[in-house]
Amino acid sequence: MNNWTRRGLISTLPAAAASRLLSQTLPASRPKIKITDLKCAIIGKSPVVRIVTDQGISGFGQAESYKDYLKPMVMFYKKYLIGHDPTDVENVMMQIRRMGAFKPWGAAVSAIEIALWDIAGKVAGQPVYKMLGGKIRDRVRVYNGGFRPPMNGQMPKDYAENVQQMKEAKEGYTLIKMAVGFHNANMMKAIPDMWYDEPRGGASHPNKGILTERGMNHILACAEAMKKVLGDQVGLALDCGPGFMIKDAITFAKACEPMRLTWLEDLLTGDYTPYPNADLYRDLKQATSATIHTGEQIYNRQNFKDLIEKQAVDVLGPDPEDVGGIGEFKWIAEYADLHSIAVAPHGIFDGLIGLAAHVHLAAALPQNFIAFEYPYGQPEWWYDIIEGLPNPIVKKGFIDVWDAPGLGVNFRVKAAKARLSPEDSGFFD
Ligand SMILES: [Mg+2]
Repeated sequence: MNNWTRRGLISTLPAAAASRLLSQTLPASRPKIKITDLKCAIIGKSPVVRIVTDQGISGFGQAESYKDYLKPMVMFYKKYLIGHDPTDVENVMMQIRRMGAFKPWGAAVSAIEIALWDIAGKVAGQPVYKMLGGKIRDRVRVYNGGFRPPMNGQMPKDYAENVQQMKEAKEGYTLIKMAVGFHNANMMKAIPDMWYDEPRGGASHPNKGILTERGMNHILACAEAMKKVLGDQVGLALDCGPGFMIKDAITFAKACEPMRLTWLEDLLTGDYTPYPNADLYRDLKQATSATIHTGEQIYNRQNFKDLIEKQAVDVLGPDPEDVGGIGEFKWIAEYADLHSIAVAPHGIFDGLIGLAAHVHLAAALPQNFIAFEYPYGQPEWWYDIIEGLPNPIVKKGFIDVWDAPGLGVNFRVKAAKARLSPEDSGFFD
């Protein structure tokens, strides 16, 4: 019904009825909200973004921990945000999205995107999952990718003991992910000559190469020992690389087939690899019935196009704090679902604001959602400066979705201020 038709109809009604219809169909306009400032503080180990508006509402987002170098990157975007309506999330993202890149350079854009959704929800008085299309589940499954007791060694029995303890955790995780192969430098140093190259240093994941028979056998023995403990009661996923050559990846994946692992992650390329490698993943996937997973480092929907359209993997694991945000993730998940590809959001270092973003996202993801990686607050005092999380957070491997507006978590400002560095002391002002 256009305005002229509506007005024509209303003019035929008694005054009271017309007034009622008008109030239902023509909502009162609100003053346009504008972004007035963008701030970034390193709180503990995490970069936190605050978008400030002219109406007293702020939105918060967070980037993966251990990234204090991101602060100048966040501030780079400030000039593109000022004056825009933060509730027009896509319009704001169109100002900055093209200035991001693969992990870690998509993190600043992603944190800003999440803060925009926080504002949009607060302005609407609705939880963020409503902004993403509404929830289709009341509780969301998490997986444990990093809450683990210290390892006693690097032999199969040590891995068996470790997952036994994780299986008994009070959170009741239904899915556990363990690092093996090139993703686990300690495992690769456990016995001599596991692969035909020297161990290398430098930035994350420097090692790759051809496995020796001994190396292949050791990784498989550790996997089998863990699977024996978990049985079919708790799922086991393995984060394997990046670093395997395709021949070894196929041999390893085929040997894993009888274990029915939930997935094998990043065998070829992955974390901090600045390209997706769809053709090689497709060759791997077609050679095995084991479940093949990648995607945590990939930025932006366009970079998932080949992986999805070529059916190159079974599971995609983007990180909302690296892919470009939660709206970006939703778009990728929907397109993946059209191609029968599952999603399992990465998130171990995403922090407690990140946890809230994961919960709202997972509530609204389609039925190809498996579980997201449960982030933790680091240092421990993060749990004292944030309010709004359930207590306990995880029950029987799930988190109940909450309904407070925006992300539904807020800073206890006085306690949080006490944790700010002198440089960031004006973050909440
Ligand atoms: Mg990984």
